[in-house]
Amino acid sequence: MIWLLSRLKRTESVRIMINDDVKQVTGVYHRRIGDVVVTAISDGYIDAPYSVLQSISPIDAQAILTEEFKPTPPRISVNCYVIQSEGKIAVVDTGSGDTMGPTLGLLAKSLMEIDIDLKQIDTVLLTHMHPDHSNGLSNPNGGRLFPNAEIVVSEKDIEFWHDDSAMARANESQRVRYFEAARFQIAPYMDRLHSATGEVFPNVRAIDLSGHTPGHTGYMVESGSDSLLIWGDICHVPDIQVRRPEVTMVFDTDPEAAINTRRRTFDMVSSDKVLVAGMHLHFPGFSYIMKNKDGYRIIPESWAFTA
Ligand SMILES: [Zn+2]
Repeated sequence: MIWLLSRLKRTESVRIMINDDVKQVTGVYHRRIGDVVVTAISDGYIDAPYSVLQSISPIDAQAILTEEFKPTPPRISVNCYVIQSEGKIAVVDTGSGDTMGPTLGLLAKSLMEIDIDLKQIDTVLLTHMHPDHSNGLSNPNGGRLFPNAEIVVSEKDIEFWHDDSAMARANESQRVRYFEAARFQIAPYMDRLHSATGEVFPNVRAIDLSGHTPGHTGYMVESGSDSLLIWGDICHVPDIQVRRPEVTMVFDTDPEAAINTRRRTFDMVSSDKVLVAGMHLHFPGFSYIMKNKDGYRIIPESWAFTA
């Protein structure tokens, strides 16, 4: 009985410790690729409704997420990556700034915690222009949040989001959230855009992964014998789309092309055993894709205690 009481007390004290004030520390994780340091930074997360998924019923989606011990409906990580190479600093995507609610927009705060000021960013490498990737470029007054950065982005995304006839075909929500936001965010950088082709930063090559948007781009980091493909939005809900690459998102510009690019990328990284990172892989996102007789599997890399 005494033993039971002391046990209850211990349980009680644990319960008291885990109260509403307990918060995770900033989501930052460093990973070395040869001589390059890549840092995953969590911009936060989105709780998405099942209606963002296409070619799968909500019941089937829920069954897969439940089987994978994941929240239902899907909770989608939003990650950015910092690349430090040859004395320069790049950030891959900018998160959503303060445009998408309290669970997002943590990039700037996390950079401060690792002593990187936005002024120090030499280059912003954009995987594409969507609000959770590029709304962190500018402040609400239209000023640059990265005052000294050059911007690498596919011309195809710039052209598409500035295409008035494509905007006229879009519905009201798409017009405001995608077309107008992309135009507003990129406006103060129009004199410092660079094409997403070839080597775009020391030890980083742009890779065409179009489909999700017309200019969707991945960035391959290579140093010595190490490599890492930061693949942008090759999948949004990895627990579902790695098993079922045919599942698309309501915001894919060209769903068929997105499926083909997803399969081609899975084939490439699984056969070459390339480490990947992604904006919507569960934080920090460093993972491998394995091909088996039933399709593909995603295998998150083990946490490393030193970078
Ligand atoms: Zn995204």
